[in-house]
Amino acid sequence: FVETGTIAIKVIFTFANMKNSIVIAIDGGSSCGKSTLAKALAKNLNYTYIDTGAMYRAVTHFLQQQGVKPNDIDRVESLLDSINISFANVEGENHTFLNGSDVEKEIRTMKVAGQVSEVAAIPRVRHFLVEQQRAIGRERGVVMDGRDIGTVVFPDAELKIFLTANLEIRARRRFLEMQQKGTQVGFEEVRDNLSKRDLIDSGRTMSPLKPAKDAILIDTTDLNIRQLLDQAMGLVAQITEKTAG
Ligand code: C5P
Repeated sequence: FVETGTIAIKVIFTFANMKNSIVIAIDGGSSCGKSTLAKALAKNLNYTYIDTGAMYRAVTHFLQQQGVKPNDIDRVESLLDSINISFANVEGENHTFLNGSDVEKEIRTMKVAGQVSEVAAIPRVRHFLVEQQRAIGRERGVVMDGRDIGTVVFPDAELKIFLTANLEIRARRRFLEMQQKGTQVGFEEVRDNLSKRDLIDSGRTMSPLKPAKDAILIDTTDLNIRQLLDQAMGLVAQITEKTAG
């Protein structure tokens, strides 16, 4: 009897969760606060967080390890099948794994940041990763951040947020973050990399960085994380009330 009761409660709980589980797409330029917001939302909602930028970075790191340049398209394409990307929680942090090795530190270097946008503009690379991103989000209950989540990966996402922020502020945030992690880098190098990536990301032919027509735009220049999270949670509440009703 006790067991049956437990199962019944579980079923009701799962059903209630399924009913309200949505896909949240967070897009925007580099260092606008996407991953900070996505992580906080996932934690609050008990959703899965997927950092799609980390996937493009992991592919870039793999190609660099193999000594393959992004303009050698044939070689890049031939190597995609030997790339396996996964995520795991390491001491409370979301870490990226490449073929079983933790590469969280390596993929955040300027070396990777300097080439990732070129790699991400290759159509076969995008197909390869988008397929995996869609598979992860199939069950809903996911917060995914990137550049094309609301436009291409999940055009049917229940909530789409597009973040923007002033370039100087973004560069300062990223610079401080890198300094805290002990990365030796100059402020100007960080700022130039952000604007260069934004330019390539928004100018590419396939899945360019742009807000989806139904995305909600939030400028994070003058917002702290609490204010941003409160706004986003307000939007989530509106959507889940609608889908539940
Ligand atoms: O988000 P993050 O800055 O780590 O992304 C690194 C790069 O990966 C971006 O500059 C962009 O070139 C690429 N990217 C992309 N599409 C995504 C996520 C990231 O093209 N969905």
